[in-house]
Amino acid sequence: MRIIVQKFGGSSLSSPEKRLQAVNKVIAAKKEGYSCVVVVSAMGRKGDPYATDTLIDLLKEIHPEIKVRELDMLLNCGEIISAVVISQLFNKLGHETIVLNGAQAGIITDNVFTEARILQVKPERIIKSLEENKIVIVPGFQGITETGELTTLGRGGSDTTAAALGVALEAEYIDIFTDVDGIKTADPRIVEEAKTLDVVTYTEICNLAHQGAKVIHPRAVEIAMQKNIPLRIRSTFEETPGTLVTNLGHANKVEIPNDRIITGITQVPNITQLKINLNAKENGKKLNLKIFRALALANISVDFINIYPEEAIFTVKDEDTEKAVKILQNMGLEVFTTPDCAKISVVGANMAGVPGVMATIVEALTEENIEIMQTADSHTTIWCLVRKNDMEKAVKVLHKRFKLG
Ligand code: ASP
Ligand code: MG
Repeated sequence: MRIIVQKFGGSSLSSPEKRLQAVNKVIAAKKEGYSCVVVVSAMGRKGDPYATDTLIDLLKEIHPEIKVRELDMLLNCGEIISAVVISQLFNKLGHETIVLNGAQAGIITDNVFTEARILQVKPERIIKSLEENKIVIVPGFQGITETGELTTLGRGGSDTTAAALGVALEAEYIDIFTDVDGIKTADPRIVEEAKTLDVVTYTEICNLAHQGAKVIHPRAVEIAMQKNIPLRIRSTFEETPGTLVTNLGHANKVEIPNDRIITGITQVPNITQLKINLNAKENGKKLNLKIFRALALANISVDFINIYPEEAIFTVKDEDTEKAVKILQNMGLEVFTTPDCAKISVVGANMAGVPGVMATIVEALTEENIEIMQTADSHTTIWCLVRKNDMEKAVKVLHKRFKLG
């Protein structure tokens, strides 16, 4: 069997016309000889009757505190409705289907309601249905615990379902259908000449996805990568090939350009930089330990961490600033904050060992009078913290300087 997993996001399923286009993508794959597993998100966005956010609001309107176990039970319904509606459409067009919810599809998770992790996939029932020549439709974003509780996989988790099924079924491809035609070199709302990439590596897309590119859930990429199952990011509404995500260019008959040093630029706004003077009463080392433990206990995630003997500098999300500052001040620390910053990520799997990437970034930003407030780097990404007012300009100049258009 040549198995393909095809996932459709909520915005690809929000109207009867769009649902027909989605279904036609599956029928086309079936005609090519694939056994098809279809993963669907809840239909539409906030305000649409069965969208995830609408279901959450349904409870919030009654009372702001929501029990997560019952919330997950409700959220499971959004994707189930979508799956059954799509199934009906396939049936109308003469294709046999079976809808298997998360539990029936064998998706076993831990018991962290609303953020569950998949522990295991038992794909036997899916395989049996594929052998019976049925299109298998699985509501995304849901699973079941070993004790039978219904869970969800965190926002955007339908991608994770698709990836986990793709790995368990050793699919030839995992297709992520969405309303854009692939991964771009930059956010097209900022950079008009941003280009769709033909192929990117798992690492590159993980970096892009963690750093603001919203096309795919990074966890889905991490799962697909474990078994080298190629992912394709494709448009539901166009005939374009989309972006292939893989490590094995040759096996998929594409060339991953090895002269491409920079692949894409992303941005994350609404970040605050915190500076803490460590020369206070205690010695810096002990204080450091306490600072980061205290923030972790308060569930505040920190980023861009630089520690010096006299000073610790790091960032938090703007929404966490007040809480973080209070915690630190209660420890007797002096905190300097710079809110409204943005993180620019310059991503490229081939930048390691290439001299001059940082120099080019610094030159390009300095020439435009953009202050670099902090930097960090790994072998595939360089991050720069700038002021939010400079964010769009920074993305534009870097995109141009690295000739990504
Ligand atoms: N419906 C869920 C959400 O809105 C899962 C998904 O769409 O991937 O987060
Ligand atoms: Mg999504």
